Amino acid sequence: MMQPAADPWGFEDAAVETWGDILGPQALDLALLAAFIALAMVSFSRKSVALKFVTFAAAIGYMGFAKSYLISITNIFSVIDLNLPVVKYNLAWYLFFGFTIVSTMLWGRLYCGRVCAYGALTQTLDAVLPAWTRVEVPRAVEKRAAWIKFGLLAGVLAYYLITRDLLVYQYVEPFWMFGLFGTTTMWVALGALLAATLVVRNLYCRFLCPVGAALGLLSYLTVFRIKRWSECDTCRICQKACQWGAIEGPKILMTECVRCDDCERLYADTARCPHWRIIDYNSKKIAVLPLLPVR
Ligand code: SF4
Ligand code: SF4
Repeated sequence: MMQPAADPWGFEDAAVETWGDILGPQALDLALLAAFIALAMVSFSRKSVALKFVTFAAAIGYMGFAKSYLISITNIFSVIDLNLPVVKYNLAWYLFFGFTIVSTMLWGRLYCGRVCAYGALTQTLDAVLPAWTRVEVPRAVEKRAAWIKFGLLAGVLAYYLITRDLLVYQYVEPFWMFGLFGTTTMWVALGALLAATLVVRNLYCRFLCPVGAALGLLSYLTVFRIKRWSECDTCRICQKACQWGAIEGPKILMTECVRCDDCERLYADTARCPHWRIIDYNSKKIAVLPLLPVR
C-alpha cells in the first residue's frame, strides 16, 4: 500500500518571510531618508542658512530626482480611499509621510520650507538668479491670491470624489518632473510656471499648490509657533522681510508660513531688531538713573 506523501501540497517548501528578508532590501533607503530628515532638522534647529541650502541640494537631488519622494495630491486621494501601501514593505514611505504630518503639527509647514524638492528648487532659483526680474506682489493682491490654492484643493478633491480620476494630479502639480516623464504640453506648462516664478518668487508654493494648502490647514494645529515681540506690531521689519506673505503685524499666518527662518534670524539680530535696541536703551537709562542729582 502506498504511503501518503508527508507534505502533499508542498507547504514545507514555501519560504517563511523573516524581518531580515523584509528589512534587508529597504535598509539603505531607510538609512538615507533618516539621514536626510536629520539634516533637515539640524538645519532648522540651528537656523543656519548654509545648512538650509545643503538641505535644498539634497532635497532636489536625492528626494526629488533620485527617489521622487514628494507628498502629492494623490497621497491625499489614497488617504480618502483608505488605499494605503502595505506598511512592512513601504517603511521609508511611511517614515516620510509620518515625518511630514508630525513635523507640520509640531512646527508648521517645515515640509514646504526645506523638504519638498519642488519648493527647494524654486527657493534655490530665487537665491541664485538676479533679483531684477522680480516683481513684488502688492499685499492686497497677495492676500487674495493666497486663497487660490485652497480653492484648487477643494476643486481637485471634489473632482476626484466624483470621477475617481487619479490623473487629475498632472494638471495641478508639477512633481512628475522629478520622474522625468510627462507629455510635451506638460513640459511646456512647467517651463511657463518656472519662468513666471522668476518674476513672482515662489509663485506655485504661495498661490497654487494644493498640497501646500492642505499642510497649511494642518498648520492650525501647530504646537511650537514662532514667538513675537510686543514691538512687532509697529516695527514690521520682519513683515517686509518675509517672502511668503506670512506676517501680518503681530500675527504669523500659519497657513502661509513655511518656517524658512528668515524672521527668526532677524529676531535674534541685536543690531537690527528694535526689541533688543529698546532693551539696550532701557538698561542704559536705568544705569544712568542713580547718577541723577537728588532734589
Ligand atoms: S507649497 Fe507645494 S510645491 Fe511648494 S513646497 Fe509646499 S508642497 Fe512643495
Ligand atoms: S519669514 Fe518667518 S513668518 Fe515668513 S515664512 Fe519665514 S519663518 Fe514664516
